[in-house]
Amino acid sequence: MPNKEENPRKKNKPKLYTERKLPQRRCTGCGESKDKRDLIRVVRIPVKEGEPHVLEIDRRGKKSGRGAYICPEAACLAKAIKTRRLERSLAVPVTPEIVAELERQIGETSDQ
Ligand SMILES: [Zn+2]
Repeated sequence: MPNKEENPRKKNKPKLYTERKLPQRRCTGCGESKDKRDLIRVVRIPVKEGEPHVLEIDRRGKKSGRGAYICPEAACLAKAIKTRRLERSLAVPVTPEIVAELERQIGETSDQ
């Protein structure tokens, strides 16, 4: 006589409410939605009319302004630039300085 009951349905019980809900953002490279904190945010800092636009990389996702997101992947960065989705999301051209800074940060992230 078995003293341990097995419930086969227990295994298939869906995992509900165990994961914290995090804001999802879409990568401008691969187009996948991911946790905001897993993506690099590029933000267009608001400037006065007539002034040149300012782009910044915002790792904390706290700065205000128009933002675009990208996975910390060299392939996603290349794709976002090639397809111009990054600059379309920001509505301004992406400067080579920002691209270089993104490349540097992506390099740091993948070293971790
Ligand atoms: Zn991506």
